[in-house]
Amino acid sequence: MEFEMHRLSAQKILIDNRWEPGKSIVIKDGVIKDIVTFNPYTDKCLEGWLVPGFIDVQVNGGGGVLFNSDPTNNGVQTIMSAHRKFGTTSMLPTIITDTAETMRKAADAIALARSEDQNGIVGVHFEGPFLDTTKKGIHKEEFIRELSDEELDVITRKDIGKVLLTVAPDRIPPDVIKALVNQGIIISLGHSNATFEQVVMAIEAGATGFTHLFNAMSPLTSREPGMVGAAMNAKSAYAGIILDGEHVHPISAKLAIQAKGIDRIMLVTDAMPHVGSEASSLPFFDTNIERQDNRLTTPDGTLAGSCLNMASAIKYAYEQLGFPLHDCVDMATRVPATFLGLENSKGKIAKTFDADFVLLNDELLVSKVYKNGTLVHD
Ligand SMILES: [Zn+2]
Repeated sequence: MEFEMHRLSAQKILIDNRWEPGKSIVIKDGVIKDIVTFNPYTDKCLEGWLVPGFIDVQVNGGGGVLFNSDPTNNGVQTIMSAHRKFGTTSMLPTIITDTAETMRKAADAIALARSEDQNGIVGVHFEGPFLDTTKKGIHKEEFIRELSDEELDVITRKDIGKVLLTVAPDRIPPDVIKALVNQGIIISLGHSNATFEQVVMAIEAGATGFTHLFNAMSPLTSREPGMVGAAMNAKSAYAGIILDGEHVHPISAKLAIQAKGIDRIMLVTDAMPHVGSEASSLPFFDTNIERQDNRLTTPDGTLAGSCLNMASAIKYAYEQLGFPLHDCVDMATRVPATFLGLENSKGKIAKTFDADFVLLNDELLVSKVYKNGTLVHD
């Protein structure tokens, strides 16, 4: 597709970790062609903070749709557009533990969505099914299982973009992790009661991520650092964190970010279909997930993902945890882009990068979203 060259400017633009006033972004063919001095005669300066489009590596649903229940291109597009209103321009739709058949349908949907819309759906996250039943959370125990060729055929497909696989390191041995990483799969550790040593071995085998740090993993205690301790200690590994005020205490979140550093923490939503939907109760497998304020639970009271959107996660990090705004944005842009190996095209406002932007107002609410230079939400 050919786009005309056009320019975009805002009061403050996040460039190289600094808020730059007086700049205009030159966009051509959906990418940033140049960053030049603002021209008051030809350029219109938008009010607010212009930041890169957000990247969310864990999105179960949105707009009333759960990806597991509607693993189709239509389902993917509904989820994407629900989250786009909150600034997410790139995501990994996430399939939680389910049958091999659902995994295959999800992969087909991702492949189709990517052929039509390369830049928004950057891949897929399979959260499970190779998990530890003792930390299953809302994952269905009946579907938690060993890795077999049936799933391997799906997760090693080459037409589905980036593949993120959450595994329990006490269920998948290091040599299998190594073989998966060699096939280009990004391994994240989670839903596991693994010991510190088991986690260290998984990281040495090539795992690079932790799925929703603190939640559904063995805790940090005095004599056993557990998965949480291993995550904090693993300087090279990235950890996703759910900053909705329900999953993680603000002090725990703050300590984790300080321990790992901004460069290794990714804000994730772990969003359920409730994001971008007015419904308070939505179906989930053979039960329902109920929303009460910002908390989602199954009828037995198990915390069931979030109704968080990425703009709110950034706002929480800034207002409740007190990190500088550019760092909060980084955790939702540059850091997940680097984790996914997209650091040369996404997550920054720089020459040759994709022209995906979010304009935030003074209350840090999303006022405009641009994808490949085109206004997609206003
Ligand atoms: Zn989970």
